[in-house]
Amino acid sequence: MGERTAVLPLGARLTDDGPATASRAQPVVARRRISVLGATGSVGQSTLDLVGRDPAMFELVALTGNSNVDALADLAVRHAAEIAVIADERHYGALKARLAGTGIEAAAGPAALAEAAMRPADCVMAGIIGAAGLRPTLAAVSQGRRVALANKECLVLAGRIFMDAVRDAGTELMPVDSEHSAVFQALAGADPAAVERIVLTASGGPFRTWSREQLARATPQEALCHPNWSMGRKITVDSATLMNKGLELIEAYHLFPVEPGQLEVVVHPQSIIHALVAYRDGSMLAQLSSPDMRTPIALSLAWPARMAAPTKRIDLVELACLTFERPDEERFQALGLARQAMRQGGMAPAVLSAANEVAVDAFLAGRLGFLQIAQLVAETLEMADARGMLAEVDDLGAVLDTDAEARRLALNLLEKWSVPGAR
Ligand code: NAD
Ligand code: MG
Repeated sequence: MGERTAVLPLGARLTDDGPATASRAQPVVARRRISVLGATGSVGQSTLDLVGRDPAMFELVALTGNSNVDALADLAVRHAAEIAVIADERHYGALKARLAGTGIEAAAGPAALAEAAMRPADCVMAGIIGAAGLRPTLAAVSQGRRVALANKECLVLAGRIFMDAVRDAGTELMPVDSEHSAVFQALAGADPAAVERIVLTASGGPFRTWSREQLARATPQEALCHPNWSMGRKITVDSATLMNKGLELIEAYHLFPVEPGQLEVVVHPQSIIHALVAYRDGSMLAQLSSPDMRTPIALSLAWPARMAAPTKRIDLVELACLTFERPDEERFQALGLARQAMRQGGMAPAVLSAANEVAVDAFLAGRLGFLQIAQLVAETLEMADARGMLAEVDDLGAVLDTDAEARRLALNLLEKWSVPGAR
């Protein structure tokens, strides 16, 4: 990947005196104002589950959703939010009607979403899925407080621009993805020169032991049965293809002070160790927790304090055995494609991610076979390369144009493949 901004020490806050480490900051004691972007989704609901257990500690500012008015309105009322925003403007009337008489503001559309993300809050949970999360998350970053980053696509699409915005605003960025939360903890503010490598673990998903022949016939229902994690549909399919781990490599590259060659993936079917950091003295530090997003979410909300999370506690004796395997990149080609895009840099990760979103939608709609997800991504990348679309760009508009163009290329390919006998 090309040149990039110096990575912010995570959990550090830029002050006039330069970065001050989070460990020197005061533990969280005051009531915290929280906004949740993507409140109706899996990460959003896990966040609100935690917040709802400790109403004395949290105050809800903005909650957002895409189109599910009932779910959004229920959450807004239950958590006494200041404002609820529905991204799809067509649902404004329904949301306003649902919130009438509650004192909760209703708003709709992209501008309202950005305005809500910028409302003063101690922490904004960025839990929107996919490229749609980029602008609202950047809006949250611009207010210069804490952003708890679940939306990995922000970093995949526009890693440099995003990290520059974080640095410029002096925003404290807390990773929410379990692997990156684990790395954050295992790094513990270490000197980057002392780090040899970072190992992200992958569960291997529901098809870890399936042959290519079986994978060719895998159905959406089978892909959506994740053995360990309960998550949204898109990321669950990404976990089955291992694209999720590929996107996480790119995410880690932007978050932590390492080069692509220092990032590894190991399959760990129990999903107990989420990542490890290997140091030059031979030590490896790992973070362990049950596969429940409420642990990394709790860390992102409360750090540098630790708040209670009602997750299953680990019993090492009951577990008895943790196992590790190398990922099979013959069967799971998405991982290699993502690694290649990370090394190539420029707009390659953005094109990879856009094509993958199209492919996953098509797979879930029964229009594409499981193995064709990676194939569609690979061919879209080839076409984008041939059109000179993979060079680095400097502004957000150009990133979003590339994203839209990559989607068009992927959809065109999909159309061609849908013709009987075309493939
Ligand atoms: P989800 O599909 O369950 O929820 C997505 C949320 O985004 C919903 O609130 C939805 O209404 C909203 N949304 C969807 N399209 C939108 C649009 N066009 N405009 C505005 N809002 C829109 O997704 P999720 O599983 O909660 O994942 C959210 C993010 O967190 C993803 O980037 C994912 O990669 C990341 N993440 C999720 C998990 C997990 O356990 N679910 C773990 C790690 C990282
Ligand atoms: Mg993860």
